[in-house]
Amino acid sequence: MLNADLHCHSTVSDGTLTPEALAERAKANGVELWALTDHDEVGGQQRALEAARSQGMKYLTGTEISVTFAGQTVHIVGLGFDHHNTALINGLRRTRGGRGERAQEMSEGLAKVGIKGAYEGALKYVGNPELISRTHFARFLVEAGVCKDTPEVFRKYLTEGKPGFVPHRWARLQDAVQWINDAGGIAVIAHPARYSFTPNEEYALFTEFKTHGGRGVEVVTGSHSAQEAARYAETALEFGLAASRGSDFHSPDESHTDLGALPWLPGQLTPVWELLADRIQ
Ligand code: AMP
Ligand code: MN
Ligand code: MN
Ligand code: MN
Repeated sequence: MLNADLHCHSTVSDGTLTPEALAERAKANGVELWALTDHDEVGGQQRALEAARSQGMKYLTGTEISVTFAGQTVHIVGLGFDHHNTALINGLRRTRGGRGERAQEMSEGLAKVGIKGAYEGALKYVGNPELISRTHFARFLVEAGVCKDTPEVFRKYLTEGKPGFVPHRWARLQDAVQWINDAGGIAVIAHPARYSFTPNEEYALFTEFKTHGGRGVEVVTGSHSAQEAARYAETALEFGLAASRGSDFHSPDESHTDLGALPWLPGQLTPVWELLADRIQ
C-alpha cells in the first residue's frame, strides 16, 4: 500500500503550517504521495509542488471546494488538476467572495453575547483575508479564554443555531465538479460522515455527484471512525466511485490525525491515485 495523504491545509487557508513545513512533516511521517488541499484556493500549489519535489515526495495538486447542497455545506476535494486553469481559478475566486461580510456578521453575533472584537481577533490568525473562516474565529476565542479548545468553540458558538453562526451560500455542486473535471482532475466527496443528511438526501448527493461527473469519495479521513470508513467503502462500491485517503490535517495543536498517520484503504476499492497516475508530479 502507498502512504498517500491527499487532504490537508496550510496557512494559505486555515492551517497553521506553511506548505513547506507541511511537506517536511509529511515526509518525516512517511507520506509517499501528498496533496495540499486548501479551502477554495490554489494559491499554495506551486509552493507545495516545489516543496514536495525537494523532499523527494510525489505530489498531486489539490483543493477543497465549499458547496451548498440541500441546505448544507459539503466539501468537494479536487485532485490532479492543472492549477493554472483559468475557469477553476475564477470559480474559486467567486467561491471565496462573501467571506469578509460573513465574518463581520459572525462578529456581530458574538458581540451580542458579550464577545467583543472577534473579527479583529480572528484576522490576526488569517494568512489570506479572502479566506477568513470559522477556524480563525475559533483560534481567537481560545486565545481570549472564552473556551478551552476549538471543538468547544464550534459546539458553543460556531455551529447552526449558535450566536456566531452565519450560514453562507457557497458554490453549486455541479459547478465545483465541472471546474475540477475541466481542469483535468478528479472530484472527491470529502469526509461524507460529517454531514447530517437524511438517507434520502445523502443518496441524492451521491447520485447527483455521479451524474455531474464526480469520481471519488474520501473513505479514510481524520474524522472517520473505522465503522464510518467501512460504511463509505460500501458506498464507494455501490456508486462505482474510487476511494481517497487524507488526514485533513490543520495544525499540530488542533488535529488528532497527523499527516500520513491513517488506516489503509479497505481492500476491493480503487484508490483514487490509480486514476490519476498520469497527473502525479
Ligand atoms: P468555514 O469554511 O468558515 O465554514 O469553516 C469551516 C472549517 O471549520 C472547516 O474546514 C474545519 O477546518 C473547521 N471546522 C468545522 N467544524 C468543526 C468542528 N466541529 N470542530 C473543529 N473545527 C471545525
Ligand atoms: Mn478547514
Ligand atoms: Mn472539509
Ligand atoms: Mn479539509
